[in-house]
Amino acid sequence: MPIADAIRDAQTKASWIRKMFEEGSILKKQFGADKVFDFSIGNPDLDPPPAFHEVLNRLSAEDARGSHGYMANAGFPAVRDALARKVNREHRVRIDGSRLTMCVGAAAGLNVTLKAILNPGDEVVVSRPYFVEYGSYIANHGGKMVLVDAKADFDLDVAAVAAALTPKTAAVLINSPHNPTGRVYPEATIAALAEVLRAHGKRTGRWPYLIADEPYREIVYGGIDVPGVLCAYEESILVTSYSKNLSLPGERIGYIALGPEVSDWESVAGALTYATRVLGFVNAPALMQRIVAELTEARVDVSIYQRRRDAFTSVLDEACIEYAVPEGAFYLFCKVPPKDGSSGPGDDIAFVGALKEKLVLAVPGTGFGAPGWFRLAYCLDERIIEASRSAFVAAVAAWRAS
Ligand code: PLP
Repeated sequence: MPIADAIRDAQTKASWIRKMFEEGSILKKQFGADKVFDFSIGNPDLDPPPAFHEVLNRLSAEDARGSHGYMANAGFPAVRDALARKVNREHRVRIDGSRLTMCVGAAAGLNVTLKAILNPGDEVVVSRPYFVEYGSYIANHGGKMVLVDAKADFDLDVAAVAAALTPKTAAVLINSPHNPTGRVYPEATIAALAEVLRAHGKRTGRWPYLIADEPYREIVYGGIDVPGVLCAYEESILVTSYSKNLSLPGERIGYIALGPEVSDWESVAGALTYATRVLGFVNAPALMQRIVAELTEARVDVSIYQRRRDAFTSVLDEACIEYAVPEGAFYLFCKVPPKDGSSGPGDDIAFVGALKEKLVLAVPGTGFGAPGWFRLAYCLDERIIEASRSAFVAAVAAWRAS
């Protein structure tokens, strides 16, 4: 077999999100796309803000000499400076562009960061449920993912993180607003986490990095504040992108920012630059860099996601499905309803199968390390969410009785 054993093995355990996407394509061919309620994939369907098209059209027409050439691996200095000002506002710090590395979306930003900091066998602590690709990204760079369970309300369990820290802990990786739960970690949680990491650093001499993965920072409801991480802990690294924040997932653009107190930050910045190069990204797309530098004030219309969230919770209420009300992102994380006469956690894979019988596609919680739950992405028009009402009600009734 000409492919690597590890890849073959990983492919057989292919992500549930991908599996559901593929099953959805088959169902859509069979029944017609308009008959299938596909809540499986978090691919934002909202248009990027109008300012994106204005800047795109203007910059593509300018065609200044060298504007499509290679630049420093970390990105255009002027772009990094502009984005540093945005980071300063959001994270209540004062850094300049030299602490930013442009990246090919958050997925690449995480890989670049992990490549830059991990030695073989180093541990990265992640809260479960979690974005499943984290496991692959950490393994890509010789690290070991250490999972801790979130609290019942999906806040980070700081005591559990503290208990999981060892001299091998290179980083704690957090994600807020969170995929799949929609939770936004409160400021007190970030402060408590910082205390725990500081105490561990002082005790062991190894200060873990706090990596904040924030591709949903700007998708929050009811004006909730996403607390700054770079201002809260010395060894903090922000990774973010415009995939969800500006609905540009296909354009693959984001950045990594080092907090103002990261020790030996110039070496870390150098390592990020090197990792960007040798992982084969070389640099983030030139045109997109220049565009996002001009869009620091642009936003997608989050009120549309909020209306969908509210429409969906009404559907779930009617179907008697319990869920955590999302504070941000565009996912509902729901509990598998109990079968008549049973009390334990429901089988999420079987329940997702029952939903599929009614042409509703969801992702089992197992795909996020959380059996007994399932995820619904609301990157779909409200009318489709509303039209799925009777399918959810029927699926739950059939499930309970089965
Ligand atoms: N982190 C989380 C939590 C995500 O949900 C995603 C994408 O869904 C990513 C990172 C990767 O985002 P990007 O498209 O910017 O690579």
